[in-house]
Amino acid sequence: MLVLVINSGSSSLKYQVRDIAEGSVLTEGLIERIGVSNGGQGDGEVVGPADHAEALEQVGAAIHEVLGDRQLDAVGHRVVHGGERFGEPVLIDNEITRAIERLNPLAPLHNPANVLGIRAITKKWPDMPQVAVFDTAFHRSLPEHAWRYAVPDELYTNHGIRRYGFHGTSHEYVTNRAAALLDIPVEEFDGVIAHLGNGASVTAIRGGKSVDTSMGFTPLEGLVMGTRSGDLDPSILVFLARTGWNAEDLDSMLNRESGLKGLAGNNDMRSVVEAAESGDSRAATALAVTSYRLAKYIGGYHVAVGGAKALVFTAGIGENSHQFRALVGEKLGALGIELDAGLNSERSKEPRVISTNASAIPVLVVPTDEERAIAEATAAAVAAG
Ligand code: ADP
Repeated sequence: MLVLVINSGSSSLKYQVRDIAEGSVLTEGLIERIGVSNGGQGDGEVVGPADHAEALEQVGAAIHEVLGDRQLDAVGHRVVHGGERFGEPVLIDNEITRAIERLNPLAPLHNPANVLGIRAITKKWPDMPQVAVFDTAFHRSLPEHAWRYAVPDELYTNHGIRRYGFHGTSHEYVTNRAAALLDIPVEEFDGVIAHLGNGASVTAIRGGKSVDTSMGFTPLEGLVMGTRSGDLDPSILVFLARTGWNAEDLDSMLNRESGLKGLAGNNDMRSVVEAAESGDSRAATALAVTSYRLAKYIGGYHVAVGGAKALVFTAGIGENSHQFRALVGEKLGALGIELDAGLNSERSKEPRVISTNASAIPVLVVPTDEERAIAEATAAAVAAG
C-alpha cells in the first residue's frame, strides 16, 4: 500500500510517500511560502503557490515523476487538534472535516491549514481514502485529575479550556518501540518519554497509555523549548497586560522569543551547547534552566506512573545531544538513574540503552518517526474501514 503523508502548515506543506509493505520512503518534500506575497505595496507578487490546492498540484506532479504508473492508495493527514472527540485515527468524510473545522478555535494556526489540505485532496482525488491522525489523540487517556485546570468550571464548559497534550503520535510510536526494545508487551510499559525537538514535551506512560503530559491547552505549557517559555506564573501575563502589552505581544513573546532563544539568544540546541562549551554564561544558564525543568518533570512523572521502569529520550535533541542528556541524567541521581558516559556519547540511528547496569531503571534513546507512524495508522484505518 502506498500512503501519502501530508503535514499542512498555514504557509507550508510537508509530504512523504511511503510503501507500507516495504517500510520505505519513496519520495518526500517541503513546499513553502504558500500564499505568501513578496510583501510589496498593493497586490504584492506571490512568490510561492497561491494556495494549498496549487501546492498540491506541485506535490502531485513531483510524486508522479517518482511513482510513474503506481497509484497512491490513501492519504494520511497530521491533524494537530482532535479536541475531546478524537482518540483514534479516523477515515475522513464531510462530517469529519467539519468536526475538525469546528476545533479551529482550539488550534487557530494549525487546524485551518489541516482542513485546507484535506479539502484540496478531496477536490483533486475525490475517491482517495483520507485519514486524519491527531496529535492530541494519544492523550485522550489522561485522567481528569491530570487534564483539569484549577479554574472555574465555565472555562472548561464554555471554552473547552483543559489540558489536551500534543506530540501524541510521537509519544505513542516511541512507547511501542521502547517496549519492544525492553522485550515487554506495551500494556506493561510504565515509563517517561521525553520528546525534545524545537517543541518539547514529556509524557507519563502507565500500562502503555498516556496518563500525564507536559503540554496543555496549547503546546506552550511545560518544558523550556527552542522559542517557547514553557511553564511560568500566569500573573506575569496579567502584570504585563496592565503595562500595555496586548494579546499579540504576549503570544509572540511566549511562543517565539522565549525558551532557549530568550535565555541564550539562539533557539538551536547545537549552537547553545557550543556556546556554553566556549564559556558563554548565558548559554550555560539556558542549559541549566532547560535541563532542570525537564529533570523536575521526570521526577514528577515517576510518581504519576507509580514508579517508572524506563526513561526514554527522543526527537532532535533527545536523539542527538549527548551533552543535554548528560545534564539531565546527572540531576536524576535521586531516582537511582545513572547514564553510561560511553554509551551516551555513541552516535547511532538505532534504539539503544544508554544507562549503566547499575542504573535503577534503563535509560533509552529511541528515534521517533512521526511520518511512519501516520502512514501506518492511515493504512490500518483504511484496512479497518
Ligand atoms: P522539530 O520540533 O522542529 O521537529 P527536531 O526534532 O528536528 O525539531 O529538533 C530540533 C532540535 O534538535 C534543535 O534544537 C537542534 O539543535 C537539535 N539537534 C538536531 N541535531 C542535533 C545534533 N546532532 N546534536 C545536537 N542537537 C541536535
